[in-house]
Amino acid sequence: MKKLAYLVSILLIFTSCKNESKLPTENVQQHKAKQAFSIIIHGGAGTILKENMSAEKEAAYKATLEEAIKVGYNILKHGGSSLDAVQKTINVMEDSPLFNAGKGAVFTNAGTNEHDASIMDGKTLNAGASAGTTTVKNPINLARAIMDNSPHVMLSGNGANTFAKEQGLQMVTPDYFYTEKRHKSLEKIKESEKLELDHDDKTAFFYDEDIKNSKFGTVGCAALDKNGNLAAGTSTGGMTNKRWGRIGDSPIIGAGTYANNNTCAISCTGWGEYFIRAMVAHDISALMEYKHLSLQEAAKEVIQNKLSNLGGTGGIIAVDKNGNMVAEFNTAGMYRATMNDKGELLIDIYKN
Ligand code: ASP
Repeated sequence: MKKLAYLVSILLIFTSCKNESKLPTENVQQHKAKQAFSIIIHGGAGTILKENMSAEKEAAYKATLEEAIKVGYNILKHGGSSLDAVQKTINVMEDSPLFNAGKGAVFTNAGTNEHDASIMDGKTLNAGASAGTTTVKNPINLARAIMDNSPHVMLSGNGANTFAKEQGLQMVTPDYFYTEKRHKSLEKIKESEKLELDHDDKTAFFYDEDIKNSKFGTVGCAALDKNGNLAAGTSTGGMTNKRWGRIGDSPIIGAGTYANNNTCAISCTGWGEYFIRAMVAHDISALMEYKHLSLQEAAKEVIQNKLSNLGGTGGIIAVDKNGNMVAEFNTAGMYRATMNDKGELLIDIYKN
């Protein structure tokens, strides 16, 4: 009997190992020599399956990821700061309707678009974040302005819109953020919500299977510059059908974004409530700082164990102080790309 239990447990361990994400070995750039600089980006994680993706769609995503990361790469190559690289790279993805950030932001329950963003400087631990803005074209620029030009870390709603205007940032009318694809997603989720309520399941609100299975599409970037400075940033429209002024992890320093020159720079994407509860970004940095784990080990621990055990889904991209880059996620896919100081580019979407 004991022997049988032993065999079953060995089998269980074997199966769970087999199910683990193999990504770190395939989409991680580990270097023997310290990288002079490097950059990694994501365009969201979720149920992104090859069988549901047309060749054109895949090509469009890859082209925008490449365009975006090359902007940051060129800044770093010419001695620019990781902060500038992160901001300008994210701008490209914010201007694309493909991603859930800036132009392509998802819709709230009220049919509006409310943006969250944050940026962090690993050298000074300075940070800027904005939540629930509606008229700022590039929310990551607002996060940067809050960090550089205000005495605060986080501004929200109308006040944040006003600060952006005062800073001379590009403002738009809310209809700029209308995209048919995102509007259809809202209608679909509202329809299924109605069906659930009709079936008297009053608890099955809105973060149900539709949300779980949707591609989240937030964007983020982490970079190391030639001066050894790390920076990270994240920008998002949040989650489709959000209401009551819901704010996710993306603008929360330590949850969705973190950077520290002693450890790493991280941007997260996924089901924000879980990333806040698990303090994902800071936890990874803390495991490196206090327990001396490598970036890869720390990221795996937090995503595959802590986040997964809570029931959260999503992933992170990160770069450490030596320029090693890691993408770790527990979803079927994550839009992502890396470039090292030799200009080698890796772009991937699915789990390897
Ligand atoms: N983390 C974001 C949020 O919860 C969504 C995403 O990453 O796609 O607002």
